[in-house]
Amino acid sequence: MIDFRLPAEIEEVRRRTRDFVAEHILPLESEPDAYDEHENLARPHLERLRGMAREAGLWCPQVSRGYGGMGLSMVGQAVMYAEANYSIFGPCCFNCAAPDDGNMRVLEAIGTEAQKERWLRPMVRDGLRGAIAMTEPHPGGGSDPTMIRTTATRRGNEWVISGHKWFITGAGWADFFITIARTSDEPRRELTTFIVPREAEGFELVRKVPIMGPEEHGGHCEIKFHDVVVPEENILLEPGRGMRVAQTRLVPARLTHCMRWLGLCERAMDIARDYITRREAFGSLLADHEAVQLMMGDVAKDIHIGKLLVLHAAWCLDEGKRATTEVSMAKVFVANLLHKAVDTAIQLNGARGYSKDTPLEWIYRYARQARILDGADEVHKMIFARTYARLGRDFWRLDVEGEA
Ligand SMILES: Cc1cc2nc3c(=O)[nH]c(=O)nc-3n(C[C@H](O)[C@H](O)[C@H](O)COP(=O)(O)OP(=O)(O)OC[C@H]3O[C@@H](n4cnc5c(N)ncnc54)[C@H](O)[C@@H]3O)c2cc1C
Repeated sequence: MIDFRLPAEIEEVRRRTRDFVAEHILPLESEPDAYDEHENLARPHLERLRGMAREAGLWCPQVSRGYGGMGLSMVGQAVMYAEANYSIFGPCCFNCAAPDDGNMRVLEAIGTEAQKERWLRPMVRDGLRGAIAMTEPHPGGGSDPTMIRTTATRRGNEWVISGHKWFITGAGWADFFITIARTSDEPRRELTTFIVPREAEGFELVRKVPIMGPEEHGGHCEIKFHDVVVPEENILLEPGRGMRVAQTRLVPARLTHCMRWLGLCERAMDIARDYITRREAFGSLLADHEAVQLMMGDVAKDIHIGKLLVLHAAWCLDEGKRATTEVSMAKVFVANLLHKAVDTAIQLNGARGYSKDTPLEWIYRYARQARILDGADEVHKMIFARTYARLGRDFWRLDVEGEA
């Protein structure tokens, strides 16, 4: 039987997260001095709230209990992340914001014991920060990672890395970079993933790329590696397995974007709902106009679809499936839904929606990246079109109990 009910312990996490966000985080959104240069939560508030979240047991939901996290399933994370991102400041307070969310996840999934002690444990315990360095400016790798031009050359027990990356989220603050470099020309084995400490000689932070919207802490930066030397033990998995590492990191990480974005969608809708139930025009409340009801009903329905896509993909990952297609479908749908939800909310708030009196304009600018980062819509559509071409009608077939 398909069972859509949540386990009681996940519901309890959801309620506690909701209460924490309402009591401690939401009030900061209207305080101008709570914002930093990234239009994100300023460090003193961030550190204070992180301490409180840790005390409340709402800390690192994606990391196992053995490493100091909550050890939630992907379904559990889907529920908690949406509550966390009901506030624009939420995920970073619970240490489940990009890019560290994905970095912790990949370190725990495939790091050696030594790598987990060196990098993962301090991320959970002391707030060590990482970044993922994959994308390069033209003519390097972007949508197509086989175009990556950053190279790593073996020299005894060390590797020498040279190259140029950009849009590296969090690079301004990051203590290390999970870096994808070319180590051979063997098809499908050409890439390798290295952990590069920031203090390594030859690392250069070129600039923080100015962008349209608010940023994660540390910004989105252009960086260079000038003959940076790292030891063999800083390789994740093994040489030639860079794409495997990238997929291990990116597939669940892009689903967690969707989980968070659903929270922003619900927030946008609540702001719209609040306004249309107070504001009158042409003799009745906005909420009583049928045209307005059609807009609200349409987004409400799409948020439900988005949740089903996200929860199904999360369940597939919990079942140990690769879920590449399921995650790609959720990513495209929820990225576009985020635009639709916030655009609708702005429209229904009239001039107020276009102001900075609500977080809607923040969310609107933030939303534009959703259709590009972690794979542009077109690339994901290509992925699930290929799956459909291979499976035909079985594309929509549900797993059956007892089948392998
Ligand atoms: C806010 C933000 C944060 C980011 N953070 C990180 C990060 O932390 N680390 C990191 O490594 N990267 C990061 N990125 C980079 C991001 O992953 C890339 O922008 C994305 O993968 C697309 O690569 P590209 O920008 O080089 O686009 P290109 O590869 O130049 O593609 C440009 C456009 O062409 C179209 N296109 C591409 N391929 C196809 C196709 N097969 N069919 C049809 N159309 C296609 C798409 O519309 C695409 O947007 C970030 C980007 C943004 C905007």
